[in-house]
Amino acid sequence: MQYQNKKFSDVSDDNFNKLNSLALYKDKVAFEFKDGWNDLVYELGKDIEDLCKLANCELPLIQQIKEKFGTLCFYYNTLNSQYPEIVEKSIRALVFQAENCSSTICEICGKYGEIRVDGGLYKTVCEEHKGNSISKNEYEEIMKKHHEKRVKNANK
Ligand SMILES: [Zn+2]
Repeated sequence: MQYQNKKFSDVSDDNFNKLNSLALYKDKVAFEFKDGWNDLVYELGKDIEDLCKLANCELPLIQQIKEKFGTLCFYYNTLNSQYPEIVEKSIRALVFQAENCSSTICEICGKYGEIRVDGGLYKTVCEEHKGNSISKNEYEEIMKKHHEKRVKNANK
């Protein structure tokens, strides 16, 4: 499985190895995000592992970890074991926090960033890596005008 996971991961070899060193992720999942989020996803995995160890629970099953619309999406389930409710809640809170945090972390370098739009695609980037992207507000403004124009033309 590791070969496939490596193939579908967007992180560097070093980061792949670091993430894959956690039992939670090891040979189970591809890392479909860029290097800037490596620490975020590593810390999340470590926290979930520590929590499960403390609570004497099995590790949850990780299904997919990917970037979607500029933020982190972390899919997992806890169907493999009976988890006390407080453990379920705590895992959910850790995941929610990391997903939220990702919208302020440059996906390229890990510095402070914001969600921007580049060629219609959302991504979270810092000043240095924003390239030709525009802010989310600018994009929404353009889309609104575009839509109004279409409505106007359709009514002619
Ligand atoms: Zn950056």
